[in-house]
Amino acid sequence: MVGAILVQQTAWENVVKVIDDMKDRGVLDVDVMATMLQEELEEIVRPAGFYRQKSARLQHLAQHIQKNHASDPRKMLRGPTRDVRKELLSLPGIGEETSDAILLFGGGHPKFIAAAYIQRILGRLGILDSNNYGEVQRFVETALPPEPKVYARLYALMVHHARNVCRSRPQCMSCCLRDACESSE
Ligand code: SF4
Repeated sequence: MVGAILVQQTAWENVVKVIDDMKDRGVLDVDVMATMLQEELEEIVRPAGFYRQKSARLQHLAQHIQKNHASDPRKMLRGPTRDVRKELLSLPGIGEETSDAILLFGGGHPKFIAAAYIQRILGRLGILDSNNYGEVQRFVETALPPEPKVYARLYALMVHHARNVCRSRPQCMSCCLRDACESSE
């Protein structure tokens, strides 16, 4: 859950550093995070960027879990996917992409993350031309069985492909999907 918030608008490598630091300082704990000084949390979160927003979001989430789920994140992530998603979306700074990352990777729910990278690849391949998060998510979830491991693997592979090959300026000459792609150059 912490990773899903910290990774907003930054690279995962920066998030790993912050999470390691949080572990070392004993801050990766609901009760500690809920009650520590905001300024202290800001300093720890700083390497992940947007540290004021992100530390406020983390603290709000921790206070919510402390108050409503006996300080146990696993309790919050239990239950029907729709209900857990609704609760996550009600919290400040948690939008669809962040909530679905928490659901899939944190809670093992069958919820596909229809991030911009996914939209880009599906669009360029000629499979689905849409920037609408919900539409792309429904498309993938309808096409595949509701299996969290499949969603997680597909997401990871597509993000890797978008970052390394199908970038803003696509590297079509070295793309394994070139023969099947409508946009190959
Ligand atoms: S062929 Fe080019 S546009 Fe198509 S998926 Fe590969 S990198 Fe992207």
